[in-house]
Amino acid sequence: MAKQIQAIRGMNDCLPGDTQVWQKVETILRDTVASFGYQEIRFPIVESTDLFKRSIGEVTDIVEKEMYTFEDRNGDSLTLRPEGTAVCVRAGNENGLLYNQEQRLWYMGPMFRHERPQKGRYRQFHQFGLESFGVATADMDAEVILLTARLWQAFGVSKYVRLELNSLGSNQAREEYRNALVAYLEQHIEHLDEDSKRRMYSNPLRVLDSKNPDVQAILGNAPKLSQHLDAESAEHFANLCERLDAAGVEYQVNEKLVRGLDYYNRTVFEWVTESLGAQGTVCAGGRYDGLVEQLGGKATPAVGFAMGMERLVLLLQELDCVGDIRRTSDVYLASLGDKASIQAPVIAAQLREQVPGIRIMVHAGGGNFKKQLKRADKSDAVVALILGDDELAQGLVTVKYLREHKDQQTLELSQVATLLADLI
Ligand code: ATP
Ligand code: MG
Repeated sequence: MAKQIQAIRGMNDCLPGDTQVWQKVETILRDTVASFGYQEIRFPIVESTDLFKRSIGEVTDIVEKEMYTFEDRNGDSLTLRPEGTAVCVRAGNENGLLYNQEQRLWYMGPMFRHERPQKGRYRQFHQFGLESFGVATADMDAEVILLTARLWQAFGVSKYVRLELNSLGSNQAREEYRNALVAYLEQHIEHLDEDSKRRMYSNPLRVLDSKNPDVQAILGNAPKLSQHLDAESAEHFANLCERLDAAGVEYQVNEKLVRGLDYYNRTVFEWVTESLGAQGTVCAGGRYDGLVEQLGGKATPAVGFAMGMERLVLLLQELDCVGDIRRTSDVYLASLGDKASIQAPVIAAQLREQVPGIRIMVHAGGGNFKKQLKRADKSDAVVALILGDDELAQGLVTVKYLREHKDQQTLELSQVATLLADLI
């Protein structure tokens, strides 16, 4: 036998069974954001490498070590998108969607990062993301967060996720804080690992994000971002908190929450679960008022989030919250005889017209009654319709119940639709 070619490590197939769960999740996501007036935007999977370098930041995990970057046949440097926000802003600028306008947008699709694959972390993964452009006030931060809370409700997992919240302040406040942090880190340089030492000067806030426990221990006494917050950002944050309180959404302020991307300012948040082990962040976002201008557009405030869809699906499966999945077929249509076999798809088409939503699988491949019933049993269908040449001539069809003890019956074809309508 020829050697089989394998999928790329960290890039998974999604098989029937799982695709049903995914479709259900996608439907809930789409319907929920539509109920808030958001519209879908679609953009390419491949973009100029510069787009991500300029937005996410040169000194970030993503740009330093995770991007799938390659030269195309023209020698241009292209990158498989590692996230959606930068692309959404690029598309918004390029198509004139952002300047002087409000836009509430969402997207969904594959992202690519060269990370070590493990549960909840893959090299091709999917994000559902949402971006709201044009409103600078905290009511919009609140809307975006309340929308995520509504999603957890719709998925039935509200009890298992918690909200962490922080404010990064203005760029100037962050600059001041950065200096204070570097001064502190310099005093403890012998306890820092290589990554943190390097980042201490290039992007010191990222040191706060370190997963190394020794570094985290040092950070316990580090100056706090909140002590350097500018008055306007503090007010913005207080207003957001007031709105979340009023809506009954609980949160914890986490002063070390800085997010791994450079473009955020003011509000940053994450929804975290204890039910998925180490990969516990299911949704992350924040405000990024400077990004549109940084990517060549006119200054436009914005706030958004991205949700890891694999982690969401895992969470639903882990917590048994997937709920009912629609049968793939309700009816298996078997036929005995040449005429019946030719008429079967015609009758199936009529029944699909008469009973909207019914799922009818038509037998193919011939074979005797026993073989066809075996197939019917293997399918999801709850009834088999059996069509024979003689019966067909009289306008009759036999109904056989596959999942309950009930006598089979022979009906006029015209009565079948009424019987099937009760199945769905
Ligand atoms: P992490 O700290 O887990 O690496 P991140 O900060 O890099 O996450 P973001 O860039 O904010 O993640 O992406 C938003 C969400 O996308 C994450 O909260 C997570 O749910 C999901 N996500 C990110 N990277 C992966 C991945 N490699 N595989 C699966 N999901 C991912
Ligand atoms: Mg990451």
